[in-house]
Amino acid sequence: MAATPGLAPFTRVDDDVWMTTVDGGVTPLNIGLVVGTRQAVLIDPGPAEGDHRALLAAVRDVTDVELVVVNTHGHGDHIGANAFLREQGVEIILAHRDAEVATSTQLLQEGPVSLDIGGIDVVVEHLGRGHTDGDVVVVVRREGHDGIMFCGDLVREGTDPSFRDSHPMEWVRTLGRIWSMAGSFSRIIPGHGRPVDADFVASMRRRMQQGHSVSQQALRDAVNDATKAIPILPYGPEESRELITRLRAGH
Ligand SMILES: [Zn+2]
Repeated sequence: MAATPGLAPFTRVDDDVWMTTVDGGVTPLNIGLVVGTRQAVLIDPGPAEGDHRALLAAVRDVTDVELVVVNTHGHGDHIGANAFLREQGVEIILAHRDAEVATSTQLLQEGPVSLDIGGIDVVVEHLGRGHTDGDVVVVVRREGHDGIMFCGDLVREGTDPSFRDSHPMEWVRTLGRIWSMAGSFSRIIPGHGRPVDADFVASMRRRMQQGHSVSQQALRDAVNDATKAIPILPYGPEESRELITRLRAGH
């Protein structure tokens, strides 16, 4: 397929598991594709802007089984392309109830949902709040292979996590859950950045725990002037400000 600006061809992560990237705000967004014998699941098709026909063509270069979409959370850079895909007959099958994905036909509430796509185990699970009100992870398992997990923006590589809509303390716990599962995974695919491993998740969790403690202490010391803590937080100034803002608001 000819190269399309902003859309890389799908590359194989493992048998039946693929990923590509599209322009997605500050850093490229990762799009996942898990191919079963009956259906293929596209994980986070990308922002509203972009060449969605090229994305569909790239999927069709990999597989011609029925295509469905799962969203890891409700941010526009992950779900914006849903509307176009739905017009093309692609069903948006699953997102979290609190992710406000209006195009989704099914909403995850409690407990994991297993997708029956044929020959490969795909489980969509809410491990707790974190990056947003409604984050889910997509766990892919196949006999004889290590698992692969798509984490959306609960995990982010190369740039700081985004706290704008976050629940920072719950996020630390949710990262702990991801880490405790991660030993059996060969790859953890973040929403943005390169694939990572369990050690990366552990260090992201430690840093967030530290950021949380420093911010809470600063809020106890001076609730209206906690921004003094920004230079000593383990994140850039903008992310640090958002972290403090969310904690001050009680999240
Ligand atoms: Zn996000």
